[in-house]
Amino acid sequence: MRAGIIGAGQLGQMLGIAARDLGIECRFLDPSVAPPAAAYGDVIQRPFDDADALAEIAESCDVITYEFENVPVVALQPVRDKLPIYPPTEALRQAQDRLNEKRLFERLGIPLPGFYAIDRRKDLNAAANALGLPMVIKTRRLGYDGKGQYVVRNEADKHAAWQLLGGQPLIAEQFVPFEFEVSSIGVRATNGETRIYALSRNVHRDGILHTSCSPVDAPGLSDRAADYVTRMMQHLDYVGVLALELFVVGDRLLANEFAPRVHNSGHWTIEGAETSQFENHLRAVTGMPLGSTDGRGHAGMLNLIGDIPAVARTLDHGVLHDYGKSPRPGRKLGHITVVAASAAERDVQLKQIDRIVTQSTFTAGNTA
Ligand code: AMP
Repeated sequence: MRAGIIGAGQLGQMLGIAARDLGIECRFLDPSVAPPAAAYGDVIQRPFDDADALAEIAESCDVITYEFENVPVVALQPVRDKLPIYPPTEALRQAQDRLNEKRLFERLGIPLPGFYAIDRRKDLNAAANALGLPMVIKTRRLGYDGKGQYVVRNEADKHAAWQLLGGQPLIAEQFVPFEFEVSSIGVRATNGETRIYALSRNVHRDGILHTSCSPVDAPGLSDRAADYVTRMMQHLDYVGVLALELFVVGDRLLANEFAPRVHNSGHWTIEGAETSQFENHLRAVTGMPLGSTDGRGHAGMLNLIGDIPAVARTLDHGVLHDYGKSPRPGRKLGHITVVAASAAERDVQLKQIDRIVTQSTFTAGNTA
């Protein structure tokens, strides 16, 4: 079995590691020189939408999957008849545009913050009237890690938001005064079998994921989030891993966005679950039976952003994953996972690692 993987970053690398143990050969497509996944399979060094490169992958692989959601859907059309592309390109299409994504949540009865499409400057006023202030202006396409966003609190901010982001399709969202953020990660097989991992509680810093902790001690929320993910996967006739990010406000869950791929908030599953999200994604897309998504304890993951200090390699607790990328501010270079017997023990360990590694204040925890 050979899987063609579009993208050879750290998610591709972790898929490649899981693939090796499953006996699946990987072939990657990525324009970068020496990307993180290169040690785990041949890399065709071409743009993601290069028709010849995609045709070459289609000729030599049994299935195509992807590690990031901005793969141009039209570029995949010519290879769709030759071999399966999982997750389905319809999921990609919905996830690539925030307006489509929000309409999908609405259609499926998944609660979400109020939103308003912004195409012209005057739509900002209409959005403010409809949603109230503050509101968050986001680019509809190609946003990630909080990039392409602006919080509008007053008239002056409207001008600034338009100066920064105007001229491309935008969306306004109600600003959600959330208590915390969670993600629910599910996996669905070709035969429709569905499994869901325990909910993760996520803390972001400067728009980038800082920590994820799982499970979250809130059965009502976990079950509801699992139901939403299941609805999405069934509707999309989905195959592979899907991550749904939600805001928690009181006892309400509001959907923010979904990713049709393995997700940073599921990295804890490598050590913290019976079967990692990477292994289950590959099992799903290659038609193997899914593995158990049961947890192995209380897991916590800390992202290493911009730099991996030497001390991160000599910790008492935690498993370090170094993606082998060169340091750059704001870049995800690796992560550390701890798995403990209790949430309290997990939180102490993660807090200690955070203090040592990032010299910063720990804000995660499992107090829901
Ligand atoms: P996103 O790219 O949509 O995942 O946004 C990045 C982060 O910005 C989220 O994880 C939240 O912390 C914050 N954020 C996004 N949308 C909103 C919103 N409507 N209200 C409050 N915070 C938000």
